Amino acid sequence: MLCIAKHYVLQNDQNSNRVNHASLRAPKQMRVIRANHLGMCFGVRDAIALAIEKSGVEPLTVLGDLVHNESVLAVLRARGITIEKQPEAVSTRTVMVTAHGASERALGRARALGLNVLEATCPLVRVAHHAVARLVAEGYHPVIVGKRGHVEVRGLTEDLAEYDIVLEEQDVFGLKERARFGVAAQTTQPIDRVRHLVDLIRTRFPKSEVRFIDTVCQPTKQRQNAAIELARQSTVVIVVGGANSNNTMELAETCGRYCARVHHIQSTEDLRLEWFSDNDTVGLTAGTSSPEYIIAAVEEWLAALANESRAASAA
Ligand code: SF4
Repeated sequence: MLCIAKHYVLQNDQNSNRVNHASLRAPKQMRVIRANHLGMCFGVRDAIALAIEKSGVEPLTVLGDLVHNESVLAVLRARGITIEKQPEAVSTRTVMVTAHGASERALGRARALGLNVLEATCPLVRVAHHAVARLVAEGYHPVIVGKRGHVEVRGLTEDLAEYDIVLEEQDVFGLKERARFGVAAQTTQPIDRVRHLVDLIRTRFPKSEVRFIDTVCQPTKQRQNAAIELARQSTVVIVVGGANSNNTMELAETCGRYCARVHHIQSTEDLRLEWFSDNDTVGLTAGTSSPEYIIAAVEEWLAALANESRAASAA
C-alpha cells in the first residue's frame, strides 16, 4: 500500500516539531537507515543559490516553481523573490528561468516583453534539450518519456513542430507508426520505466528505426537505485519531498514496489506514530527538491522514536 500523507502543514523550523518523548507509545525496537543518495541535487541547489544572490542585487521574479517544495518557496518569498507563472505577469526588470529550463519560444516571449532573462537551467536539462534537437535534426520523430504539462517537458517540446509524449504503456499504443522514432526522457523519470517504454515502442513498431538517447540525469538514477536498495531492507519507508515534486512521487512509487508501507511526507508535521510498529526498520529517502534541514529534522524525529524503542525494550 502506498500512503501519501494528505494533511500537509508546512514547516521551516526543524526544532518546532520535535518528538514529545513523554507522549510516545514507542515500539520495542526500531532501526532507522538513510538512503546512500537522497535529497537536493546540484541543479536545484545552484538555482536557489543564484536566485538568492540576484535578489540581493535587484528585485527578482522567478518564472514557475524554482523548486517543487513549498517550504523552500516560502523561504524565497520571505527574501522578496516573486514567483509568477507567466512572463506577462512579471513586474520586475529581471526574470529567472528555473533549473527545469524553458523553450526558446518561452524565452523569446519574456525577452519581447523587455525582460532581462536570467537562466538557471540545470546543465543536465540542457543535455536533454540538445538530445531532442539532435534527434529532430537527424530526421527522427521525437518521443519524450515524461509527464505531459510538467514544466521541464513543456520546455523540451514547445519548440517542436510535432512530437509525442508517453508515460504509460497505453500512450505507446496510441502512437502512429513512423519510419524513425527518436526517444529521450524527462530527466527525473525512473530509468526502468523509460527503458521499458522504449522496448515497447520497438516491439510495437518492428519495421521502424527506434533510437534512444538516455537523458535521465545521474542524480535521479542514484536516488532511484539507492531507494530500491533502501526499500528492500526496510519494513516502512519515509519519502520526504514536495507534494507536487515529480521525482519525489516517482521515488515513492519505486519504493512501493519493494516495500508495502511507504509514506510520502513534506515535513515532520506529516509523520504519524501509528505508522511505526515493533521491530520496524525505517528507511529514509528524499526527492531532489528536499533541503537537508527538512531531511535532518525527519531523521531526528525518527531517531528519537528509535531511542525510545530501545529504551522501552531494555526496561
Ligand atoms: Fe538537474 Fe537532475 Fe536536478 Fe533536474 S533532477 S535539476 S536534471 S540534477
